[in-house]
Amino acid sequence: MTEKLTIIGSGPAGLTAAIYASRANLAPLMIEGVAAGGQLMLTTDVENYPGFPDGIMGPELMELFKKQAVRFGTRIITSDVSRVDLSQRPFRVSVGSDEYNTESIIVATGASARWLDVPGEEKLRGYGVSACATCDGFFFKDRPIVVVGGGDSAMEEALFLTRFASGVTVVHRRDEFRASKIMAARVLDHPKIDVLWNTVVEEVLGDTSVEAVRLKNLDSGKIDDFATQGVFVAIGHDPNTALFEGQLDLDEKGYLQVFQNTSASVEGVFGAGDVVDHTYRQAVTAAGMGCEAAIDAERWLDARAHE
Ligand code: NAP
Repeated sequence: MTEKLTIIGSGPAGLTAAIYASRANLAPLMIEGVAAGGQLMLTTDVENYPGFPDGIMGPELMELFKKQAVRFGTRIITSDVSRVDLSQRPFRVSVGSDEYNTESIIVATGASARWLDVPGEEKLRGYGVSACATCDGFFFKDRPIVVVGGGDSAMEEALFLTRFASGVTVVHRRDEFRASKIMAARVLDHPKIDVLWNTVVEEVLGDTSVEAVRLKNLDSGKIDDFATQGVFVAIGHDPNTALFEGQLDLDEKGYLQVFQNTSASVEGVFGAGDVVDHTYRQAVTAAGMGCEAAIDAERWLDARAHE
């Protein structure tokens, strides 16, 4: 049997693609991955997804997406894809020892935030530790916040967080920012932002929510506990494209490249969401691209059927 469309990934992009593709009678196969639902599964309240004026929990939102996709005939396999072979059509997608043939693929494997990997960080994720100021900044009204990182993301997060926080402290491991000059200058000139240079977070402290971070100054070796309720880790994201290396065009940072709407470099493969987009990285923009990819895949399949 050959599937018409296989969707790899099950965040907002993959599930929106599944809703559109299943309503177009493509009966898509979704391989949702072991970490199904994507990055929203790591957040708590989502207050900026349109249609939920009172907010919704990230995992609950993804459950609703999934229910809607299944309602129209999406079939879901809860495993990770172990291998893809795009060298001939139908393409082959392996999940362990199972192999699926498919005429088209939507890659919606997302990106993963990099984490510091220090004690306390994982336990307190969603309870003061976040990688998304746009998602979680609002919860820290009039409170002190720490932002970790020295790139444009950290600058952007720090500047955004000044709208809510009583003060923002940027913790950076070196003595200069990697960020663009203009972003760095905005941070350095901002009255609500302080910078701790040559400093690393060694531990996130707190039982049920963040209470402080243990900081180490790399020059003096001095260790201090710095009281804060929020720790925003902004040390970059990595696109989940390892499966496609050598088979699809990736940019220099490993993001999937798309040409003409959502088409990847191999005909019949489409990309959507954070695996492609490192600029917006929002659930609603990923959902929008998922819709586009499903429409592109449907049109491509239809054109081939009439060849
Ligand atoms: P990035 O440029 O790779 O910067 C990551 C930062 O995190 C660096 O300062 C790095 O320190 C630090 N870092 C990495 N691992 C760390 C660790 N384990 N512990 C402590 N610090 C760590 O990533 P990004 O800021 O996410 O930006 C990614 C790309 O998107 C960039 O090209 C950026 O220009 C672009 N972007 C642009 C905008 C904008 O223009 N508005 C906004 C966001 C992102 P070192 O400096 O010491 O390496």
